[in-house]
Amino acid sequence: MIRQLRQALCLLFLVRFLAGDFSVYNAIMKGTLVHCLSLHKDDFQLWNDAIVGVSEKGTISFVGNGCDVKTLSEVYGFSVDQVTNLGRKFLIPGLIDTHLHAPQYAFTGTGTDLPLLEWLNRYTFPIESKYADLQIAEHAYTKAVKRVLSLGTTTGCYYATIHLPATKLLVQIINQLGQRAYVGKVNMDRNSPETYVESTENSLKDTEEFIQYCLASGEEGKRLVTPIITPRFVPSCTTELMTGLGRLAAQYNVPIQSHISENCDEVKWVKDLHPECESYTDVYEKHNLLNEKSVMAHGVYLKDEELQKFADAGAGISHCPTSNFQLASGVFNVRNALDKGVKVGLGTDVAGGYSSSMWESIRQAMNASNTFRFGREFNSVGYREAFALATVGGAEVLGLGERVGNFWPGKEFDALIVDPFVEGGPFDVFEWENEEQIFEKMVMMGDDRNIESVFVGGKLVAGTSKV
Ligand SMILES: [Zn+2]
Repeated sequence: MIRQLRQALCLLFLVRFLAGDFSVYNAIMKGTLVHCLSLHKDDFQLWNDAIVGVSEKGTISFVGNGCDVKTLSEVYGFSVDQVTNLGRKFLIPGLIDTHLHAPQYAFTGTGTDLPLLEWLNRYTFPIESKYADLQIAEHAYTKAVKRVLSLGTTTGCYYATIHLPATKLLVQIINQLGQRAYVGKVNMDRNSPETYVESTENSLKDTEEFIQYCLASGEEGKRLVTPIITPRFVPSCTTELMTGLGRLAAQYNVPIQSHISENCDEVKWVKDLHPECESYTDVYEKHNLLNEKSVMAHGVYLKDEELQKFADAGAGISHCPTSNFQLASGVFNVRNALDKGVKVGLGTDVAGGYSSSMWESIRQAMNASNTFRFGREFNSVGYREAFALATVGGAEVLGLGERVGNFWPGKEFDALIVDPFVEGGPFDVFEWENEEQIFEKMVMMGDDRNIESVFVGGKLVAGTSKV
């Protein structure tokens, strides 16, 4: 597999070289590269002594073997002195959080005692309603984005609140801090507290203004932030509102995010609200909110027929196991969804999830899958696959598979330099351990202390640069 990949890469390099795409480099790094070519566990690749060239535009120009540095330097036109040797540090793709609530960051790790519907009313809605105040929004959103960047999340798919000014401010903060993101102004026009609800008309008007605001900030492919249509979930949105949002999604060709089948009481409530629909999935489908640009969080109670609808529509699921455990919602069967051909990525779902770290999501995804192994044979998700879900999986779910998720030449350099040997770090490495064992320790026990640098589009956005 690795040999085939290398042959393919060599061919690609040659084509790109003949196209004259290699003259100036932002950085050239030598270290242990770890990434996944797909979600399949055989496509996990740990490449010792690899060299990665990053173009001036922030894209990956080439990948090659460290022992071939002289030849590579002649072929790609760089000086051997330009190569930064990372030693035994890892170079890995940035992590992709496919579902998190920026306003909820402030109370992450608290309010862990209630199930979803009570939790929303008791903790979430009162906090989110405070974001009408731009000072609160600026303070909390800056902290939230800085925190997730420092943990290695290079792309985040955010819910904001119903407030248009604060949601625009979140976009500004993300742009300033340099993260890649999808941001949605939340829509809620029913079954919501008096202090945190909008009229259908205003909800649609503000959503359209928000989309136009984001799209005006730069051309497609160059913008860091993409607007995403964000009906909170079916119980919060009238048919009229969902119909209008489906229309806006089609008109502006923008992605859609929402929640689906997270909790038993919620599923029953949706059934009561929409007796005309066959299922929760059917409600979104009937309102033109389920397509190849949709990312739906949770999906714990989706039936196989509904998963089939996801696969047929090309819609993705954001699996948020930390949240599913914290809110005692249930356990999503990732293996079953993948077997049905559904796109799956991971999300933290702060503050339903107690941690804004995607490393925790990776571990909890493994634990969640292991619950299906209790007392029976089951092919549960291991650390390689869970890491793949947090990188290439997330990229596919967000429709960014051509741009980020691994080190395929031509993609954006969204990457982390990880130091497993950092002084005062969260785990120890012993001399008899090989690189894969050390990387596994990082996945299972590592944290922001191990993350030396975070790059988005080739630009350093957190940590320190030694390149
Ligand atoms: Zn959520």
